[in-house]
Amino acid sequence: MIIQLYKTINPEDLQSIFNTLESNQYSVTQVKTQFENYLVCIGKHDVDIRIIGHLKGVKDIHRVSDNYKLVSRKWKTENTKINLGDDVIIGNGNPSLMAGPCSIESEEQVSKIVSHLVKNNIKIMRGGAYKPRSSPYAFRGLGIDGLKMMHEQCKPYNIKIITEVMQASQIQDMIQYVDVFQVGARNSQNYNLLDALGEIDKPVMIKRGISGTIEELLNSAEYIFSKGNEKLLLCERGIRTFETIYRNTFDINAIQILKDKSHLPVIADPSHGIGIREYVPKLALASLMAGADGIIYEVHEKPEEALSDGQQTLNFIESEKLVQKTQLIKALL
Ligand code: PEP
Ligand code: MN
Repeated sequence: MIIQLYKTINPEDLQSIFNTLESNQYSVTQVKTQFENYLVCIGKHDVDIRIIGHLKGVKDIHRVSDNYKLVSRKWKTENTKINLGDDVIIGNGNPSLMAGPCSIESEEQVSKIVSHLVKNNIKIMRGGAYKPRSSPYAFRGLGIDGLKMMHEQCKPYNIKIITEVMQASQIQDMIQYVDVFQVGARNSQNYNLLDALGEIDKPVMIKRGISGTIEELLNSAEYIFSKGNEKLLLCERGIRTFETIYRNTFDINAIQILKDKSHLPVIADPSHGIGIREYVPKLALASLMAGADGIIYEVHEKPEEALSDGQQTLNFIESEKLVQKTQLIKALL
């Protein structure tokens, strides 16, 4: 059960709500986010919620049978929109495109990509500064210097930045350069990181874990929300299955299921989803047709020379064609 409280609720009224809940054997977590004041109530018994709904200070009350609560569609039927400023809004019915290299490599690389984004009216740049790599000997990113490079070149064009944060201690250094924090697949259940991201006022896109279930993804988002940050996006990026012929099994089913189970926007990552460049555009388009609010994909001037994930990275021509096709999809939808 979720109770939405009036922000102006006075301490006595709040205490009386707590007393009623506790006498009905609910355990209660109070959640204050950027926008709202909630009580998340977990109980074993079925209680007539009208007795609580009538209490002073209660704005609304909803039963939520899912084990995740705040991210559930069961209490919030309208879609959540994430406003990044400068009219860049995710989840407003227009597919959002996020594109950029797997890793930030150099000033020159960033500058080429920014020109490509500007030319194609892509408003959000992706690019890893802190890279989780399967081998410790692979390129692990330029760190904060890479992020600053990206920020400096995106700012004049109001291009928004999404980049991965790998540990809580990086958040404070990164925050002024970032518009959306990405939680990578490998960190999808790093609950200390999720807790820390719950304490900031910046959007977070959380990727599905490498072998993560849909419910686990929703519960990871619940961690962040329940700490106070409701600016959240979910990302399907493929999962590990018995199939080894492509990088991951891109679970296109998950897109609709996530949209159905949660009010949060859903972003598809076909680059990591299949890991094979020539199929990325088709899966990107399929994802939008399947209901994704946006796509995130990798692009580089010379994918064959990229320091990471070149095999799944589009070149500028391929990326431009994809952007044009997304316009057609927009018209179709
Ligand atoms: C990435 O976006 O470059 C990345 C490392 O993705 P994932 O966490 O999905 O593997
Ligand atoms: Mn990558």
